[in-house]
Amino acid sequence: MAKPKVAFYWCASCGGCEEAVIDLNEDLLKVADAVDIVLWPVAFDFKRKDIEALEDGEIAVSFINGAVRLEEQEEMVKLLRQKSQLVVAFGACAHLGGIPGLANFYSREEIFQRAYKEAPTVENPEGVTPQERTAVDIGELTLPEFYDTVKTLDQTIPVDYYLPGCPPPPDLIMNAIDAILKGELPEKGAVLAPNKALCDTCPRAEERPEKILIKEIKRPHEIKLSPWKCFLEQGVICLGPSTRSGCGERCINANMPCRGCMGPIDGAVDQKAEALSKIASLLGVGEEGGMTEEEVKKLFDEIVDPAGTFYRFSLPASLSCKKEWNWRTK
Ligand code: SF4
Ligand code: SF4
Repeated sequence: MAKPKVAFYWCASCGGCEEAVIDLNEDLLKVADAVDIVLWPVAFDFKRKDIEALEDGEIAVSFINGAVRLEEQEEMVKLLRQKSQLVVAFGACAHLGGIPGLANFYSREEIFQRAYKEAPTVENPEGVTPQERTAVDIGELTLPEFYDTVKTLDQTIPVDYYLPGCPPPPDLIMNAIDAILKGELPEKGAVLAPNKALCDTCPRAEERPEKILIKEIKRPHEIKLSPWKCFLEQGVICLGPSTRSGCGERCINANMPCRGCMGPIDGAVDQKAEALSKIASLLGVGEEGGMTEEEVKKLFDEIVDPAGTFYRFSLPASLSCKKEWNWRTK
């Protein structure tokens, strides 16, 4: 019997999701044995025309990592959607926009200005910036269009499932591949990770008082962090109360607070709003023995770079960005 065809593709990402596939270690051999990989640009020399030659729906599943920033990425994910029965948004950038999505704080012109003209390491006296078409002796060179905004994968094509994380943890990747091969997938649109908050699995939650009273917000480098105390109790913003679990508490175990790469749990419409509301409830706002609204407002006002703190992995998926996106893009 023919093996199911599988494609891996990357868009705007750092390559960490590709490393996560390699981190499957010996399980990677089991996967390679069970499927027929038809596209994996980081590892094999397949061409776009190889995918174009396939029948529609011939690929069982495409795992696509990275956000969508370039015309070429948009074309490729649309082609993969057409050729695939299932599309999985693989990793935080495809899922929510990820770190590349932070570029949505700036327009394309501002990014080009900074990257090609103003950055201290740039030497570009003629002020050259990338052009989509450049005439040369032997003809014309082309570059894909650099769009004005970074989009999540599901803002570009319909997505069937989401594998969250920066990068997705290997056990969740293997669970997803197993479920696909056995045809035991949950309802379409599901995030293939536990639907409970990181605090529910964090060992530091056990000793955390019911109500946390903080006098000031600190950044991790400003204090000596306890290796066992809840970060919030130490006045350090941790997104564990509002972030999906399943990562194995990777940052917490390295004595760093959670930055929210697994995204919010089901039902949350905006990661920042969800995080502020969950943290406020831990501070017991308006409750007996808790902090007052004024105290909490003053505390939240002290957060340096609030948008970067709460939307580090999800700016393109945020409510404010989607609103702006409507008028800034064609
Ligand atoms: S807020 Fe962070 S450190 Fe505290 S219990 Fe939750 S995940 Fe753990
Ligand atoms: S602790 Fe938070 S930021 Fe770190 S890997 Fe887990 S979900 Fe991501």
